[in-house]
Amino acid sequence: MIKLKTPDDIQVMRAGAQILGKAHAEVAKRVAPGVKTKELNRVADEFIRDHKGVPSFIGFGGFPFALCISVNDQVVHGFPGEYVLKEGDIVSVDCGVQYEGLHTDSAYTYPLPGARPEVLQLLERTMDSLYLGIDQAKAGNRTGDIGFAVQSYVEKFGYGVVRELVGHGLGKSLHEDPEVPNYGKRGKGVKLVPGMVIAIEPMINMGTRRVVAERDGWTIRTADNKPSAHFEHTVAIFADSTEILTTHEYIESSYTYKWRNKSR
Ligand code: MG
Ligand code: MG
Repeated sequence: MIKLKTPDDIQVMRAGAQILGKAHAEVAKRVAPGVKTKELNRVADEFIRDHKGVPSFIGFGGFPFALCISVNDQVVHGFPGEYVLKEGDIVSVDCGVQYEGLHTDSAYTYPLPGARPEVLQLLERTMDSLYLGIDQAKAGNRTGDIGFAVQSYVEKFGYGVVRELVGHGLGKSLHEDPEVPNYGKRGKGVKLVPGMVIAIEPMINMGTRRVVAERDGWTIRTADNKPSAHFEHTVAIFADSTEILTTHEYIESSYTYKWRNKSR
């Protein structure tokens, strides 16, 4: 069942999304070679609680951390821990904030200095596919229009679109209907209507789309061990417009390695 949001709900989610964006920025300031991923989790967790939010992921399905941190061939749902970031890595940081009872969710994949050009290209194109998906997230369109936009763009480059994990509605729960796959057919799927709030989150693999679960039962990684990228925004659908509630702006102003050639 799809739960539509009121203008008041969306106003609260805007405020939550600001906390989320700034929590991401605290992480961005610290992403560098030599840093343990558990330190990134610590600063995000602390920042969210200091700003009257609750980390959405803690306890969600039993997940134990504020952040999902997925490095290199890990796709999503990685555990923060003792891993020390090194030159050439890419690291996906996914975070959710519950603020006044409503969730927002966003993710960003950082390249560390030394990441190969083809890996930077994977990241840039995955980010582009997120915005192509968002362009299709408008009232009257269907979830298949979003999936088609993402899939048709990234598959041109020979990349694999992860099927097992998808975007989602969100609000009082972190995951609500509808599912928002990153693949699909134009004009198919659930119709988008004003008041829907959805997370769009392409997970794009450099090689095969196939993924496997690691032994911790959570971490998903690529079956061929090639890198994977993940970018996510929470968006609200209105009758005549769509608003990106979450933001990567604070990340991009805080992260010292300026890896992108173009600005959005
Ligand atoms: Mg997320
Ligand atoms: Mg999500």
